[in-house]
Amino acid sequence: MRMDMMMKKATYSKRYFEILEKRRNLPVWLQKQEFLQTFKKNQTVILVGETGSGKTTQIPQFVLEAVLDENPNPNPSGRKWLVGCTQPRRVAATSVSRRVAEEMDVQIGEEVGYTVRFEDCTSSRTVLKYLTDGMLLREAMADPLLSRYKAIVLDEAHERTLATDLLVGLLKQVLMNRPDIKLVVMSATLETNKFREYFLGAPLIKVPGRLHPVEILYTLEPEMDYLEAAINTVIQIHMCEPPGDVLLFLTGEEEIEEASSRIAGKLGDQVRVVPLYSTLPPALQQKIFDPTPDHVRKIVVSTNIAETSLTIDGIVYVVDPGFSKQKIYNPSTRAESLLVSPISQPSADQRAGRAGRTRPGKCFRLYTQRSFNDLEEKTVPEMLRSNLANTVLTLTKLGVNLVRFDFMDPPAPQTLSRALEDLYHLGALDDECNLTKTGEMMSEFPLDPQMAKMLIVSPQFNCSNEILSVSAMLSVPNCFIRPRGEAQKAADEAKSRFAHIDGDHLTLLNVFHAFLLNNQDPNWCYANFINYRAMKSAVSVREQLVRIMSRFKMKLCSTGFNSPDYYVNIRKALLAGYFMQVAHLDRTGHYLTVKDNNQVVHLHPSNCLDHKPEWVVYNEYVFTSRNFIRTVTHIRGEWLVDVAPSYYNLASFPNSETKRVLQKYYKKRVCEKKGAV
Ligand code: ADP
Ligand code: MG
Repeated sequence: MRMDMMMKKATYSKRYFEILEKRRNLPVWLQKQEFLQTFKKNQTVILVGETGSGKTTQIPQFVLEAVLDENPNPNPSGRKWLVGCTQPRRVAATSVSRRVAEEMDVQIGEEVGYTVRFEDCTSSRTVLKYLTDGMLLREAMADPLLSRYKAIVLDEAHERTLATDLLVGLLKQVLMNRPDIKLVVMSATLETNKFREYFLGAPLIKVPGRLHPVEILYTLEPEMDYLEAAINTVIQIHMCEPPGDVLLFLTGEEEIEEASSRIAGKLGDQVRVVPLYSTLPPALQQKIFDPTPDHVRKIVVSTNIAETSLTIDGIVYVVDPGFSKQKIYNPSTRAESLLVSPISQPSADQRAGRAGRTRPGKCFRLYTQRSFNDLEEKTVPEMLRSNLANTVLTLTKLGVNLVRFDFMDPPAPQTLSRALEDLYHLGALDDECNLTKTGEMMSEFPLDPQMAKMLIVSPQFNCSNEILSVSAMLSVPNCFIRPRGEAQKAADEAKSRFAHIDGDHLTLLNVFHAFLLNNQDPNWCYANFINYRAMKSAVSVREQLVRIMSRFKMKLCSTGFNSPDYYVNIRKALLAGYFMQVAHLDRTGHYLTVKDNNQVVHLHPSNCLDHKPEWVVYNEYVFTSRNFIRTVTHIRGEWLVDVAPSYYNLASFPNSETKRVLQKYYKKRVCEKKGAV
């Protein structure tokens, strides 16, 4: 077999044959020949199959086999080629590639590897690469024809993430320019007609699922507290239902940890509770696949990763409270936020389907049948609910004409023009919407445009070293651990020792410095309620950002720590990137966002400020029970007119208290200038 020759494998381990046995039973194997033939004859193939039918793990291997067949020498001109498979989620890319490496009996990072933001686990030998859709988009920026790839598998296309939608549009052009590249679009649901029309009638392969019937149970009354109801339902299932594993869908880490510990506390050794969410360390993620001993029920508590991205065998009961965290965006307030919101009907059906993989199952929907009917009939593409500044920057860098780009679902004109405006104020685009030098550099950073801008200007404020650390800390999961119960107070005290009175960004910087001073010691982290993994990844993210800065010969510099300007310079640099995210304290004691219809916002309770400064810059806008701004730092209003005069152009301001204050600063500046002359 060619594959073996290419892999230069003479022998396989026993484990290889054990897994092969299992793989051969997956539904996609029944259609392997059909797939290979269709793949050979067509440039684009669309494949739909139930979750768990083997799409993500098997099809890329089939594709690799077909490509190897046609290119027996993998290295003709000293240049390597690749088969790529995209995933909307980072966890899926890392977890599935590990599994596939195991299936092919190779080390991860060798023939099979993965690339996700800030982590590259591939080598010169890699021929099959799993990567996030966002990473492939980044690669396209450097190599618009994706010339290294012989074939691309776009997985989970039904999720309609921003990056996947953009890739779909770009790939359509690449296919026309490169007759030798092939594309497989895979999806778990049947919105396939849309894809077929888009790809001009590409052939469709349907992999019939092996779904057992799933009985759906609704609540009679709406639940007031879905977390409480979910925990009780899981306990009820364990008490009353025959053996079979349980899958509970919740929305995020905190909820999942709480539910897990409460369920484990109640049921003890009779069950094994396994949490699953994206920031969980890989070794713990792997636990969802571990079999449990007889008479021990597995209870997986997961985000919607388990909806289609990762298939867990043996689930018989699904508990679905009907919510997930979703991105929403309001272009008129410029607020993009992750919000716990009701899922769509197709999502609910996917969730229910998880119960019927091994045998007939049950799905407990913690909402009424009527509420189900009220759910959205389709999942709204992320393109229609996102801030598009980054997208527009990417497309501009790719030389794509926004007006002519073949969007599967075109975004609202208001959102697009908002994005253009923001990029203009950030100095990334000029008056004619052409990419500036700054914009060119910004697009090289795998960060949002504001953070990229902050890094680029930081040498001017003599603090690029510190801004690098702050950016790294903002790019990793929250470093502060706050356990429930007795330890909470100790955790808060530990945090307060890092607190900087001028704000959370500076507090993050303090933590980063302390971590380095303590030689990156895990015990130090433990004693201080700091998340060691988050800190390690911040160190690695920072190194990667340093590499990008060095490529552009940007100066790495600091203001002397004893200088009174040390923190002032950092705060100014923060503002130079995030000047669109500023709030002003008005006389009534409320913060109002400066532009964007003057939203009333509150400081998030996690903030470290010891007072309410008149002006703050913030990193994030969070809606929960109220509108919060999170990760906030005290700035001075005068700086606004220096750092972003085009954005703080008074002519564009509605009459307000804020405008009057700003007017004062402008006048003062004019006087100072006159004085100086
Ligand atoms: P699909 O993409 O069609 O949803 P997958 O290819 O992800 O299906 O999964 C096929 C099978 O491989 C499933 O039975 C799943 O449980 C199994 N599988 C995937 N990853 C792992 C893993 N890390 N360990 C054990 N089994 C796995
Ligand atoms: Mg899959």
